[in-house]
Amino acid sequence: MNTAQRYRTVADEVAEVCAACGRAPGSVRLVAVSKTVGPDEVACALQAGARDFGENRPDQIVAKAPAFPQARWHFIGNIQSRRIPDIVGAATLIHSLYQLRHAEKIDRAAEALGKVQDVLVEVNVSGEASKSGAAPEEALALVRSCAALPHVRVCGLMTMAPQGDLSVAADTFRGLADLAGEIRAQLPSDEAAAFTELSMGMSDDWREAIACGATIVRVGRAIFSESFQE
Ligand SMILES: *Cc1c(COP(=O)(O)O)cnc(C)c1O
Repeated sequence: MNTAQRYRTVADEVAEVCAACGRAPGSVRLVAVSKTVGPDEVACALQAGARDFGENRPDQIVAKAPAFPQARWHFIGNIQSRRIPDIVGAATLIHSLYQLRHAEKIDRAAEALGKVQDVLVEVNVSGEASKSGAAPEEALALVRSCAALPHVRVCGLMTMAPQGDLSVAADTFRGLADLAGEIRAQLPSDEAAAFTELSMGMSDDWREAIACGATIVRVGRAIFSESFQE
C-alpha cells in the first residue's frame, strides 16, 4: 500500500470503530502525524482526504504549514520557550502544553498575531517518568490558569499511553476521560463549552482510545510507514 491507500484505510477504520462504539463517524478527528516524512508524502495524504497533520518539531511545522495552508496543523511536540512565536504562527491547535510559563508566552505571541490560540493541556496520566505532562492532580489548576489568559482557549486534554499493553493503554485513556469530565464540571459555563477535546491514541492504540471517548487520534506510522505492522 502507498500513503494514500494507508490513509484511506485508517480513515475508513476510524469510521467503523466509531460506529461499533455507537459514536458518530464525524466525532473523531484523524490527525496524520507527518513528522517522519517530507512534503511529497503530505501531499499524498492530502490528496487522499487528510486535512489535519501533526508535527513535533518547530522547524517542521514552520516549513510545512505555509506550504499546505488548506490543512490544519497540530503541534504535538516538546515546547521550547524561544520557539513559541513560530509555533503559534503555524499551529491550529497545540496539544502539548503543560507549563504555565509557556501558556503565558503563547498568550503574548497570539496577541501579537491577533489570534486566540487553541491549546490542549497534556496530562501524564500513567505517571511514567519518561512521559511529559502535568500530574493529574495539577491539571484543574493549570486549565484554570491557562483559560484565564485572554489569547489562549483551552479546548481539552491530551495524553500518551504507555506502549505495549493495550489494557494499560485503555486504563490511561479512561483516566484522561474521567479527569476531563471532572475538570469540565468545575469550569464556568463558557470555558466548559470550549473544553470538549480528548487527544489520545496513536498507531498501536487508537481503537482503544476511541472506545474511551477520544475526539482526536494522532496516527503516524500506520499512515506514513511502509513497514508498520499491527
Ligand atoms: C509521533 C507521535 C505520534 C504518532 O505516533 P505513531 O506511533 O507513529 O502513530 C502521536 N503523538 C505524539 C505526541 C507523537 O510524538
